[in-house]
Amino acid sequence: MLIDVHGHIGRVLPDRREFVDVTNLIAKMDAWDIDVTCILPLSEHPEGAYLECNTEDVIAACARYADRLIPFCLIDPRYGNRADMDFSHLLEEYTARGCKGLGELLPKMDFDDPRCLNLYRQAGKFGLPVLFDMQDSATGYGLRDHFGLPRMERALNLCPETVFIGHGPTFWAEISGEVPRDNRSSYPEGPVAPGGAVPRLMRKYPNLQADISAGSGHNALTRDPNFGVEFLDEFQDKLMFGTDSCKRSDVHIIWMTVDLIGDLRANRKLSTDALDKLEWRNATELLRLNVS
Ligand SMILES: [Zn+2]
Repeated sequence: MLIDVHGHIGRVLPDRREFVDVTNLIAKMDAWDIDVTCILPLSEHPEGAYLECNTEDVIAACARYADRLIPFCLIDPRYGNRADMDFSHLLEEYTARGCKGLGELLPKMDFDDPRCLNLYRQAGKFGLPVLFDMQDSATGYGLRDHFGLPRMERALNLCPETVFIGHGPTFWAEISGEVPRDNRSSYPEGPVAPGGAVPRLMRKYPNLQADISAGSGHNALTRDPNFGVEFLDEFQDKLMFGTDSCKRSDVHIIWMTVDLIGDLRANRKLSTDALDKLEWRNATELLRLNVS
């Protein structure tokens, strides 16, 4: 069983010619031996409009393949533009319609902006983990934080009922105690220095988990292969497989995190138990999925 907690569909801007529809997503899942995929909307955020897909699109797509696709919902924390906005009318509806998580949250806001904290808390009350992207660039998308992730730590403290699923270049750059000043929103190379914020926060806070999707997750786990395996082993109860594939043409390649899982299994780099958790058991428990 392989569950991808980070899938996408939608038309890709600016020219909209690249179009991942649900049929293409299923073809990728079949090519990569993925049994179940969580689909994450993006375009509730203006920053996420590069991939045209909102919560309604996701729910409609998942209804067509109910045994293989799981919907996430998305709400922009700036909706209502106040720190006490009540989102329960949306959260009630989305959970009733089968949504299992909230994300991909990627507004260009501080991680502990009061409007974000308000959304995190309410998602937690409805049992929805929050899957986020982080980039510290001034433009583009992604939550922001300082070196060492103090704003994220504040949110983890203030929202203990909310489980956060970490993802994205800046999150994964912070796996190392030495984060390059000029390469924090990309793919830092070379050995991982001790004392990184991500392992420290994952040890300390039960409500911080992560998916291993995308170039950023793959890079973090392969830039220093021995460290990567140790990290996967230590946090085997808090990590989940994901792809973050956004292109139609990806069906023609072996996706990098699929390749990584295959290597871990074929070369017995992790125990069968740890691999099962990474591939499906952690996702099944956290998202309360009814799959077999
Ligand atoms: Zn994504």
